[in-house]
Amino acid sequence: MPRPIVATIHIESMKHNLARARACAPGAKVWGVLKANGYGHGLERAMRGLADADGLALIEPDNAVRLRELGWTKPILLLEGWFDPADLDMMAEQDVNGSVHSEAQLAMLEAARPSRPLKVHLKMNTGMNRLGFKPEQFAAAHARLRALPHVADITLMTHFANADETGHPRLPMREQIRRFNAGAAGLPGPVSLANSAGILHMPELGPSLGGELASDWVRPGIMLYGGTPGGPSAEEFGLLPTMTLTSELIAVQEIEAGDCVGYGSRFQADGPTRIGVVACGYADGYPRHAPQDTPVLVDGVRTRIVGRVSMDMLTVDLAHLPHARVGSKVVLWGQGMPIDEVATAAGTIGYELMCALAPRVRVVEG
Ligand SMILES: *Cc1c(COP(=O)(O)O)cnc(C)c1O
Repeated sequence: MPRPIVATIHIESMKHNLARARACAPGAKVWGVLKANGYGHGLERAMRGLADADGLALIEPDNAVRLRELGWTKPILLLEGWFDPADLDMMAEQDVNGSVHSEAQLAMLEAARPSRPLKVHLKMNTGMNRLGFKPEQFAAAHARLRALPHVADITLMTHFANADETGHPRLPMREQIRRFNAGAAGLPGPVSLANSAGILHMPELGPSLGGELASDWVRPGIMLYGGTPGGPSAEEFGLLPTMTLTSELIAVQEIEAGDCVGYGSRFQADGPTRIGVVACGYADGYPRHAPQDTPVLVDGVRTRIVGRVSMDMLTVDLAHLPHARVGSKVVLWGQGMPIDEVATAAGTIGYELMCALAPRVRVVEG
């Protein structure tokens, strides 16, 4: 018998969430982002869930090749572009777009002689200060790309730091848009602006609406997997969970006042109570730093974690669950238990929980 912990991937819910992304950015084409193994869902499963996307975007060159092997024929975009000259050859062979964000990449491209012209996304650094050319360097970089016979077309791209908090005191999204428009003024080519936060919080984004925010392409990731980048809940945004992590109780302990539970004896009972032991630990991807009171469902009833999360187990409060027994169903996150709530309790974000799903967890679809 395998351990009872299972991650169920809901392919139909990915399709639903993709339709939500489209509805939020009317007229824009959609890159379905499936970096990091489809945010932990599996590359091939994410590809099927996002079959209706206009293209798929990711970070890992080897997985771009894998998508072609799996039969994906629409566009593919490498969000961080190429890491060495061999990637440029692969991009030409497999018809993969790449972003160009640095002088080093641009020089590599200038020295390259790919077998077919390449499609590139020129990235502007509008204040995130991770990747991209500064607004004042942007037109020069664009001119160098245009001078290359092996560059077929150029999309203009940037990335927002605070799209989930539009009035951010340090770097409001509108300031990034202003810098983008200044740096890209007069340059031809489609524009690619927004991640999930931008799509959910700036509904005026789509090109059909025009104006200063017009984005020909959007790049949703987390919202396609039923998580949010912050703000209102996934349910309020009309998003459905795409990964449900379930397990079972493998033991029940009756304890007395003064008894403790687990490593460090972090939980001490103040009266007689019952504790359930769940087959799920940090080696499955559940965050070890999830504190006491992190929510969990047992037999469909909300309860909480008590004591420390260990490698293969965690312990839950059964005080108000008198019928819970060995074999009772537990939902760690997903349908019935929003991943964002668990993540917030654990001081992290849903992205990290999904991506950290451990290889030893059995994955099924449903
Ligand atoms: C990961 C990524 C996205 C998607 O971000 P979400 O917050 O998951 O929607 C969009 N654009 C770029 C450049 C990315 O790296």
